[in-house]
Amino acid sequence: MSGFGPRHLPYGVFSRPGGERRVGVRLWSSVVDLSVLGGLLATGSLNPLMAAGRREWTAAREAVAGLVASEPPLIPLRDVTLHLPFEVADYTDFYSSEHHARNVSEILRPDSPGLSPQWKHLPIGYHGRSATVVVSGTPIQRPSGQLAEGVFGPTRRLDVEAEVGFVVGRPGRRIATTAFAEHVFGVVLVNDWSARDLQAWEYRPLGPFLAKSFATTVSPWVTPIDTLATVAGVAQEPEPLDYLRPAGPAFDLRLAVEWNDTLVSRPPFASMYWTAAQQLAHLTSNGAAVRTGDLYASGTVSGPARDEVGSFLELTRNGAEPVTLSDGTSRGYLENGDWVRIGATARSAGGEEITLGSVSGTIVA
Ligand code: MN
Repeated sequence: MSGFGPRHLPYGVFSRPGGERRVGVRLWSSVVDLSVLGGLLATGSLNPLMAAGRREWTAAREAVAGLVASEPPLIPLRDVTLHLPFEVADYTDFYSSEHHARNVSEILRPDSPGLSPQWKHLPIGYHGRSATVVVSGTPIQRPSGQLAEGVFGPTRRLDVEAEVGFVVGRPGRRIATTAFAEHVFGVVLVNDWSARDLQAWEYRPLGPFLAKSFATTVSPWVTPIDTLATVAGVAQEPEPLDYLRPAGPAFDLRLAVEWNDTLVSRPPFASMYWTAAQQLAHLTSNGAAVRTGDLYASGTVSGPARDEVGSFLELTRNGAEPVTLSDGTSRGYLENGDWVRIGATARSAGGEEITLGSVSGTIVA
C-alpha cells in the first residue's frame, strides 16, 4: 500500500482478537505496536499523548521513527480491529469552501443565490454531536425524521460531505492563528453524513441539527500535522480582522470520493477559503475553550469543477441530475447497501506523496 511508508506513520488505536486496545502507527499494510515505547504511548488511546503538547509530540515521533528503523514486529492490518483513535470531546463543523457555499445556495435557494453577507468576514460553523462520531467501517443506519410537514420517516436524500478534520491536542482559549501548531495534533478525514430532506425542513433559521447529528465518520489514522507540506492559502478579500491574521498554513490534500466502485469526485482541499488556523482562532475568539480530543472539520470540500464537489447534493443537483455508476445503475442519493469511501493523498513535508487513512461506510436500512 503506497503512501504509508516510514515518513508518514499515522497514529491509530487497534486491538487483536481478545486483546486490549493499543496505540500503533501504520507502516505499509501493517501496524507497529507502540506499547513497547512505554510512557504516553503505552495506553489504549491517543488522548494522553495529544494532551502533552508539541514538545512531547516531537519526542514521540523520534521514538517511533527509531522503533520503525529497528525493524519492529509488524502486525498485518487484516489481523487487527481499528478503533476510534481518540476520545472525541466536542465536535464542530465549519462551512469554509466558497465553491460549496455558492453551490448549496444556488441549488437550495435559487431565489436568493450567493454567499450570505458575513461569509467572507468569518468562518461559519456549528456545534455537532461528538457522541455519534464513529470510526471508518461502522455501518450507517439510515436516519428517520421529519421530512416535510406531517411526514416522519426514513430520509430519502441521504448524502455525504467529504471533509478534513483537525484534532486538538493542547487545550486553550483565544488561540492565535500563529499558535495553531501548538494546539492541533493531527488531521483525519471526515464524512459528515447528511439527510438533505430533514435539513431542508428543520434548517432555517437555525443551524444544522438532526439532519447531521446521526453519524459522522472519521478515519482510523491520525496524520500528525507536521507530516504534511504546507502551501499558501487562497487570497482573502476583504482582508480579515486582526484576530484572523495571519491566515496560517494551508494544506494541499486531494480528496477522492468513491460511490460503490465508482470514483465520482476529486475535491481539492487547497481551494478552501478559510484555513484551519483561522477556524480555531474564530472558534475560541469569544473565550470558548477547546480541550484535548476536540474535533473540528473543515466543511464540505468542493472545488470549482463538477467532478470536484464534496457532496452528492452538488454532484447530482439535489437528485435532479443522477450520476451513472460503473455497474450501470444511476443514483441521485444513497440507497441502502451503498457504500462510500473518502480517501486523500497529500505532499509530505519531505516532498513525497502520502495517503491519508480513508473513511468508509455502508448504508443500512
Ligand atoms: Mn459538514
